Formats: sequence, C-alpha cells, structure tokens
Amino acid sequence: MIPIEDRCTSCGIPLQAEKSVKFSCPRCSSHYIVRCGQCRDQSAKYTCPGCGFVGP
Ligand SMILES: [Zn+2]
Ligand SMILES: [Zn+2]
Repeated sequence: MIPIEDRCTSCGIPLQAEKSVKFSCPRCSSHYIVRCGQCRDQSAKYTCPGCGFVGP
C-alpha cells in the first residue's frame, strides 16, 4: 500500500523516479503537491487536494 503523499498529484501514479518533486502548496502551505518526472516534463497541471489551487 502506497501512501497518498507518494503518488503524483497530477496523474496519480506511484512515484518511483528520483526526478519527482514534492513541495508544499503555494497557497495554503498545508498540503503537499507531488509530481512525477513525466508530469514535470509535460508541465502537467496539479490541483491542491486541500484548497483547490491549480498550478503549472
Ligand atoms: Zn505524474
Ligand atoms: Zn493548497
């Protein structure tokens, strides 16, 4: 079982690549945004699970 924090916020796949990044939401700072390397390359949008902030 993989914790939700270890899944890409954009596509939902479990993180495995070291290219993935994790940072706190720029708006509410209380939720983590996690993105895999693939979504970084594609500049996929992410949505904060807490406040709904959408960012590139
Ligand atoms: Zn992803
Ligand atoms: Zn937020």
